[in-house]
Amino acid sequence: MLREEFLNVKRIVIKLGTNVLRNEEGEVALSRIYSFIEDISKLVKSGKEVIVVTSGAVGLGKKKLNLETTNEDGVKQACAAVGQSRLMSFYENGFGVFDIPIAQILLTEDDFSLRHRYLSLRTTLNKLLEFGVVPIINQNDTVSTIELHDILAGMKVSFSDNDKLSALVSSELDADLLILLSDINGLYTSNPKENSDAEFISEVTEVTDEILALGTDPSEGGRGGMKTKLEAAKLVTRFGGKVLIANGKIPYVISKIFSGENLGTMFIPTNENLSGKKRWIGYATNVLGKIIVNSGAKDAILNQSKSLLPIGIVDIINDFKQGEVVSICDEEGKEFARGMVNYDSEECRRISGSHSDNILDALGYKNYDAVITRDNITHL
Ligand code: GLU
Repeated sequence: MLREEFLNVKRIVIKLGTNVLRNEEGEVALSRIYSFIEDISKLVKSGKEVIVVTSGAVGLGKKKLNLETTNEDGVKQACAAVGQSRLMSFYENGFGVFDIPIAQILLTEDDFSLRHRYLSLRTTLNKLLEFGVVPIINQNDTVSTIELHDILAGMKVSFSDNDKLSALVSSELDADLLILLSDINGLYTSNPKENSDAEFISEVTEVTDEILALGTDPSEGGRGGMKTKLEAAKLVTRFGGKVLIANGKIPYVISKIFSGENLGTMFIPTNENLSGKKRWIGYATNVLGKIIVNSGAKDAILNQSKSLLPIGIVDIINDFKQGEVVSICDEEGKEFARGMVNYDSEECRRISGSHSDNILDALGYKNYDAVITRDNITHL
């Protein structure tokens, strides 16, 4: 895709990673953060809508409190509380110079997972953009529940890093472009920090399993890595958004991108146009329950876009209520889809393996033939 076409966008989410917001000493990279603000202000003045997803709170708090590690319970949360207000003071000062109002929004997994909160957040963010505000979003690490492993054992949470958070925000707001700025130029055929033969990939037309396999783990300080960036790119391109992964350490990188410089890896939207509801089912909810299905049901769901019938169910794992989203896994345990269930886990156990005609006999009532209706299934 031509750069010009790629950059023909109105609504942009820009994610700034920890390693671009702080310098080698762990202090805030002042000139860089102000240059981001200067660049973003230009975009806003030119009529674009910009949402910032910022990391850096934990890192700045850790520095302020002179701590070596954040491993002990509650320490990361405390650092986030200290660092977040420092972080916001830079945004407030910088955007203030350009007379652009900003808003702080701190989010947890439940703000996406609980549909009424998700919808209300969307309304608020749209209102802020209408008022010409730049929303500055971060994970609310101070209260985030992902640290409470006992309660959440086995649960897949909607996000636990800012790469996925920025993809969920892009999806929620139907953003045209997500820009992920970190300390790497973009995607390579292998990790360039370890392998000098690594080749740069300037354009990705589809985030396939092969592309996902190029993902590496987080660099020091941040929680995301290339892996989470590729997962973010997959979600955004599936609903028709574009994604650019670029190096935030290049001076004035945002202005350079918008002046057409060939920087970063572009991810081109697919033709799938995943609907808002399917995005929410596939990506935005926390998932605990699992339904294991046989190969016939897997094929019917993946290749023929069919509903999940009780006859294809092999096993039910964990408890869930009617209307909750569950993982749909094959007999090897690989999750290949997610769906919103018509029956709770107890009912599913009683009807699994049987023909839909027997649901009435087994339960004494029958509201649906399918355990998950095709419209409520998202392939992963
Ligand atoms: N929310 C974290 C912070 O502000 C960063 C999360 C991430 O690196 O993805 O420090």
